[in-house]
Amino acid sequence: MKTTLFTILICFLGYCEAQNRRMCVTVDDLPAVHYGLNNRAEITDGLLATFIKYEVPAIGYVNEGKLYKDGVLDQQRVAYLEQWLKSGLELGNHSFSHMNYHKNSLEAFGEDILKGEQIIKPLSEKYQRKVQYFRHPYLRSGATKETSNSLKEFLQSNGYIEAPVTIDNEEYLFAKAYAVAIRKGDKEQALKVAESYLEYMTLQQEYYEKASNDLLGRNMDHILLIHANLLNAHYLDELLDIYKEKGYEFISQEAALKYPAYQLEVTIFDDWGISWIHRWGMSKGLKGDFFKGEAVTPEFIKEPQQ
Ligand SMILES: [Zn+2]
Repeated sequence: MKTTLFTILICFLGYCEAQNRRMCVTVDDLPAVHYGLNNRAEITDGLLATFIKYEVPAIGYVNEGKLYKDGVLDQQRVAYLEQWLKSGLELGNHSFSHMNYHKNSLEAFGEDILKGEQIIKPLSEKYQRKVQYFRHPYLRSGATKETSNSLKEFLQSNGYIEAPVTIDNEEYLFAKAYAVAIRKGDKEQALKVAESYLEYMTLQQEYYEKASNDLLGRNMDHILLIHANLLNAHYLDELLDIYKEKGYEFISQEAALKYPAYQLEVTIFDDWGISWIHRWGMSKGLKGDFFKGEAVTPEFIKEPQQ
């Protein structure tokens, strides 16, 4: 009898572990990707309203190069970043100029990283926040073991923790198509893009949940990558609602990175910017089906009319 109860308990715990649904929402390219619409305020307000509504401890990764207008620091753009901090959220470093590490030396990349903390460091301190996470532009973290290691050492010695991504996606293509529709005043097309985006992101989350289960036997604490754009300002609310319905709880960057899988070693390198779940999978020798089944971005999204 005791054995049976014990077995049931173990199965139950195993089930709970498999059903783990926690996600950190990370937003890249702050203050905003506006596709020429000049609507940074609308983007910032929309995103923050959603994070406050769902109590999402999101992190925004900043390109300080975007804070300058004709070479002069634009205080209004700095104010958008301050809005994040005022809302209780944190900022991370995404390099000054969104530099691709695979196309530059560590010396140049390191310089760009340190240049990218000049404003956000003191600004964060004002709100008792530390800038401690770094997100690689284009998810390029080193095309070889050597360059990956030397970047890791550089980041570590400058007080940074690397922020991998597990739920990678082509959200930026939908955001561009959405901006084009809005610019043209085509509400019908904008709605079509948004609906397609929500469907795509739901399938992509399901794919990475499956991939995590295939890799680890359970669903890990995920890190979702999205960008600060109008599409999310208008529809992140609905997307998070979908994730919440599926049982997802939103956690901070710090909490997510405590999940043991983030310590897994990557041993295979190339010039790619892919999900860390795929990097770990390849390093473990997984093949075939593990990599199949990602959501497909529809053709009409890929070629938005200008
Ligand atoms: Zn970026």
